[in-house]
Amino acid sequence: MAIERTLSIIKPDAVAKNVIGQIYARFEAAGLKVVAARMAHLSRQEAEQFYAVHKERPFFKDLVDFMVSGPVMIQVLEGENAILKNRELMGATDPKKAEAGTIRADFADSIDANAVHGSDGPDTAKAEVAFFFAGMNVFAR
Ligand code: UDP
Repeated sequence: MAIERTLSIIKPDAVAKNVIGQIYARFEAAGLKVVAARMAHLSRQEAEQFYAVHKERPFFKDLVDFMVSGPVMIQVLEGENAILKNRELMGATDPKKAEAGTIRADFADSIDANAVHGSDGPDTAKAEVAFFFAGMNVFAR
């Protein structure tokens, strides 16, 4: 199995609920290591660029408004099949449809305030890690 890296964001709703530690515990229990992390309050421009793929979607403005509404915790997770594993831990985009025991089922309130982001494939993982951590030391653990 391949060791992968993926980008994870704990979104403003989950940071406001003070559940960063509970979400990190789930990564750790699943064998995912945090190899880089930083807290940030995204600018509008950063949020718009990060979600540029959605810019024609009707929810784009609300999504950007939400992502800049408070601090986020951004991390690179590493482990076997990290990309898919993180997506499984997150659960479906809409928390009402997320499987019981997933992060979104347990901590998200709605499809827009849905607690976490995770890269959805190898190409996006690479681009998203570079987006937030380019030029920074991302350690091997
Ligand atoms: N989103 C939304 N309304 C929708 C669909 C998506 O607000 O109808 C937001 C939601 O925060 C989601 C993000 O846009 O996490 C990106 O959507 P995507 O389909 O990529 O879902 P994800 O990969 O985050 O599960």
